[in-house]
Amino acid sequence: MAKTFKNFIGGKWTEPLTGRYFQNRNPADTNDLIGRFPDSGAADVAAAVRSAQAGFEQWSRTPAPLRGEVLRRVGDLLVARKDEIADAMTREMGKVLAETRGDVQEGIDTAYYAATEGRRLFGRTVPSELRRKWAMTVRRPIGVCGLITPFNFPMAIPTWKAFPALLCGNSVVLKPSEDVPHTAHLLVEILLEAGVPPNVIQLVHGGEAAGKALVEHPGVPAISFTGSTVTGSAIGQVCGRMHKRLSLEMGGKNAIIVMDDADLDLAVDGVLWGAFGTTGQRCTATSRLIVHRKVHDKLVSRLVAAAGKLVLGDGRGARTQVGPLIHAAAREKVEYYLDPAVLQGAEVACGGSRPRGARTANGYFYRPTVVVGVKPGSRLATEEIFGPVLSVIRVGSYEHAAKVNNEVKYGLSSSIYTSDVNLAFRAMDDLQNGITYVNAPTIGAEAHLPFGGVKQTGNGHREGGWEVFDFYSETKVCYVDYSGVLQRAQLDTYDV
Ligand code: NAD
Repeated sequence: MAKTFKNFIGGKWTEPLTGRYFQNRNPADTNDLIGRFPDSGAADVAAAVRSAQAGFEQWSRTPAPLRGEVLRRVGDLLVARKDEIADAMTREMGKVLAETRGDVQEGIDTAYYAATEGRRLFGRTVPSELRRKWAMTVRRPIGVCGLITPFNFPMAIPTWKAFPALLCGNSVVLKPSEDVPHTAHLLVEILLEAGVPPNVIQLVHGGEAAGKALVEHPGVPAISFTGSTVTGSAIGQVCGRMHKRLSLEMGGKNAIIVMDDADLDLAVDGVLWGAFGTTGQRCTATSRLIVHRKVHDKLVSRLVAAAGKLVLGDGRGARTQVGPLIHAAAREKVEYYLDPAVLQGAEVACGGSRPRGARTANGYFYRPTVVVGVKPGSRLATEEIFGPVLSVIRVGSYEHAAKVNNEVKYGLSSSIYTSDVNLAFRAMDDLQNGITYVNAPTIGAEAHLPFGGVKQTGNGHREGGWEVFDFYSETKVCYVDYSGVLQRAQLDTYDV
């Protein structure tokens, strides 16, 4: 019998007050039931926030270097349990083991980065314009942070949010994706084992109802969300009305540009990894290939040949290169975009159907698909599909390629393959994205650099690196006047 999991609220594992549960099944084999997880509601969220408010009182007073020590132990425990977690993650999310190990590794890197930040968390000391007056900034924690995460990086994204939030002295209510709750359960087990005080971390499982309740709770002053642009916009409206601090990381429609002077062997490998890694379900996945007409046919024929050979199956299989989509609706969305009415004259060069055979019969598999003749501005060229579909757009110049890259509403990641160093630098200037790669695909973010997108991908904040610590702390300015007289800034004259 499959296990029934609980929320972690008020310092203990608790059943949902709704009394309802949802099933978590393996997307590679829907007969495989992983467990039943709480389908929580507003009352569960309210209990979690009450507990997190108590936790904040204690944790915000714990010195930052000690908070960092706890996160270092979290990193050590993730190292020790890396393979076990990766296996569980592949079972519930579907991507291949090498990728789920990478997902855990990103959590490890984030933990160790946050641990060292405990001994920095710098403020600034700034000269005052007045004599015998001291001016400085310090970082203060904010309070209870509500974290809402998507399905595609079940460990990395919760850690990107939770670790800096905790390091800065906040308490956390985590509402993970209902598609990957088991990985979040394992993460919270590890946080507790490492010494995060029980009231400081709360885990509330569930879907939209639980997420909405967290966003709307007046006791949660900061929300960090990663997911679709539609959901992020709805959250943005609530947070704007309630004056909440909000970080949004949302959809993408990322492109690789391949110029006529590119190393095509390198480009083929990069496009395949960018487009079909994680079954195209990365926010940074390569969804468009913008290719110079002089190398178009050569590149497409090599891509089609290679894509057709990719091995589909359970991500835990030794030979598997591409796992399933996350659920039936995700596969139906892919199929919708490949309907002739939506293709608008573009042509499916490979893939375009579900695979046949017993190995993939019980999962949400779809063959890696390359579509050629896609027109800039068409739906296939501009909308996020979030599956193994690569849209190829032919261009005649770098200027045209940059224009096509930029004419979508998203702005997460971009890439250019070229051997012309001047063009590479022009692309770094011209491409309207938060991330640009040169001679590498659109995926491959590193934990110690800021991560995020422009336009409708984000709202100006960054995860990762040093910038994320700004989001999870308030800057407080302190002035100390030790002159013993009243000094009035801007009013008193300054004698040199
Ligand atoms: P989603 O928007 O469907 O769900 C994300 C989370 O929001 C889930 O936990 C869900 O339960 C919750 N949610 C749903 N409705 C809500 C509401 N009204 N209020 C509060 N919470 C709510 O996204 P998904 O399908 O899990 O993930 C795929 C999307 O995430 C893609 O669009 C992808 O581009 C995006 N993504 C972006 C980044 C990035 O960094 N830019 C990274 C990964 C994924």
